[in-house]
Amino acid sequence: MDDCLFCRIVAGEIPADAVRETDRTLAFRDIDPQAPTHVLVIPREHHRNVAALAAADPGLLAELVDAAHAVAQQEGLVTDGSDPGYRLVTNTGPQAGQSVDHVHLHVLGGRRMTWPPG
Ligand code: C5P
Repeated sequence: MDDCLFCRIVAGEIPADAVRETDRTLAFRDIDPQAPTHVLVIPREHHRNVAALAAADPGLLAELVDAAHAVAQQEGLVTDGSDPGYRLVTNTGPQAGQSVDHVHLHVLGGRRMTWPPG
């Protein structure tokens, strides 16, 4: 989509600090990090949110989750499968705080997370 920020990052029209790439996914550092590690993982293909992606291509959703876990391992957040850990977030809709309508997983870690989220 021409007017989608993350499609433009995928196309190389807007720079991003990429940390991991596959044929169908791209991971890059969030420009406004909320934790010592804050990486966004997106499919290269445009889907407006996680539900739309699940409906259109469940295999790609699984790849996205795998990519997020691989990023967490790369960032030293997974040492023995559970510790120190990381948080995966995907916001859907304005009230949840979704500001970019191209599905993305936030990989957050490097500090103790609190609950409930803000
Ligand atoms: O969940 P939400 O849609 O709000 O997440 C969008 C994220 O994209 C924000 O955390 C924002 O900082 C990030 N962003 C980015 N690079 C841009 C524009 C936004 O990392 N060029």
